[in-house]
Amino acid sequence: MTAHRNAGAGARVAVVLFTSDLRLHDHPPLRAALASADEVVPLFVRDPAVDGAGFASPNRLAFLADCLTDLDAGLRERGGRLVVRHGDTVAEVLRVAREAGAGEVHVAAGCSAFAHRRETRLRGALEGDGRRLAVHDGVVTVLPPGRVTPSGSDHFAVFTPYYRRWSAEPLRSPAGAPRAVAVPAGVRSEAVPARAGVASVSGGLAVGGEREGRKRMSAWLSRHVGAYGDRHDDMAGDVTSRLSPYLHFGAVSATEAVHRARALGGPGAEAFVRQVCWRDFNHQLLNARPSVSSEDYRPRQDRWRTGTAAGADLAAWKEGRTGYPVVDAAMRQLAHEGWMHNRGRLLTASFLTKTLYLDWREGARHFLDLLVDGDVANNQLNWQWVAGTGTDSRPNRVLNPVLQGRRYDPEGTYVRRWVPELRGVAGGSVHEPWKLPEGERDAGGYPAPIVTLAEGLERFRQARARG
Ligand code: FAD
Repeated sequence: MTAHRNAGAGARVAVVLFTSDLRLHDHPPLRAALASADEVVPLFVRDPAVDGAGFASPNRLAFLADCLTDLDAGLRERGGRLVVRHGDTVAEVLRVAREAGAGEVHVAAGCSAFAHRRETRLRGALEGDGRRLAVHDGVVTVLPPGRVTPSGSDHFAVFTPYYRRWSAEPLRSPAGAPRAVAVPAGVRSEAVPARAGVASVSGGLAVGGEREGRKRMSAWLSRHVGAYGDRHDDMAGDVTSRLSPYLHFGAVSATEAVHRARALGGPGAEAFVRQVCWRDFNHQLLNARPSVSSEDYRPRQDRWRTGTAAGADLAAWKEGRTGYPVVDAAMRQLAHEGWMHNRGRLLTASFLTKTLYLDWREGARHFLDLLVDGDVANNQLNWQWVAGTGTDSRPNRVLNPVLQGRRYDPEGTYVRRWVPELRGVAGGSVHEPWKLPEGERDAGGYPAPIVTLAEGLERFRQARARG
């Protein structure tokens, strides 16, 4: 890599633009910048266009603030600091590069249409100014999108063959954090955002940041990964890694998580690695077909319900008042924590798109409003998968919330945790409150089901048969 000498100062300077990679460990752009330059400007730009595109939400902004605060602290321990700017990313990067006399800018490759446009504009602006953009693959995901493809296509549409090819690819070795980061003097920074400055944050939101993420990764891998294969669907047990927000913001490296799990070995570790591969799978799909963020990957000619009754059903679903306890428990967990167990995501999404026959985009929007790990690739493509417009080979399967509750929350513990109206109901009978004697059923004012499952199923089957 050629480094540009800054005529004025004599020192070689590079900018590292942090985006979805808010960490110091295993960070190829930072390492490359430190290898080629004497001084580095670690830069984060708060871009109003990101907010405008719907990526910002209180929970994610609060978690982002934690991540930036922690990144700044980590850089300060190494003699540096984080430079924060507000404005159009391209304009700000160019401005910082000029102020610092930086010859090159390093950034991780992104997977969304938004990231692609930003990259193209950034390259144009920097090259037009005699500077260079270095884009680093495999930072956000384990494998760069497009690294493995089936014959005749630019992406995999079926997970299992993707997983097979993905597993066989060699991984780069995760790198440690740098010992020192020298930042040129005199580069202006705005204050690093603080979580306290963000309003309307979910009360039970996790703490963000690389340190917290790494602590969580180490603790979970040593204590829980062994049982992950058997227990990942246990809603009350809640023993999945909860690393999703750290992976979303890049506070934890997905590559490092895979390395460490594989080093431990065993079926639990492999089941965990397989889930991380789903993340890559969705990113390679979004990368190849950016339109799937809003358009059906496989259209089924759905004419989703609209109008007053549909609006009331959507509101009940959002509020966790559908009358189906496990659905309502999961929706309330989402509101309280900004996170939901994967089994909850599956069954609430199935309930919305199939039992209520409401557009998956409505559900995806609500999830993105609240999920701290909410991201376009994983959220939109999982929604499409459940709605049957994505890559599921059984697009018309419908999850029955009563059977799901009985299976994945057999004692009803998860429901009672989140639905206080039902705390007096013992055991698994909590999943069918309408079967309880009247006195018990009415306790706490828990609503009656907004639709019967038979009605919902019939409506969905007819709609898909028409299509
Ligand atoms: P673990 O079970 O510990 O899995 C480890 C990691 O693997 C996760 O942190 C995540 O990065 C990845 N992963 C696991 N399952 C999936 C999956 N199905 N698809 C893609 N990656 C996966 N995940 C998000 O990160 N962001 C989202 O916006 C998101 N929206 C979803 C919407 C719906 C309707 C559904 C059904 C799933 C969604 N998921 C999303 C996937 C999954 O539910 C979460 O990643 C998982 O529940 C996070 O918990 P965890 O970190 O404990 O996961």
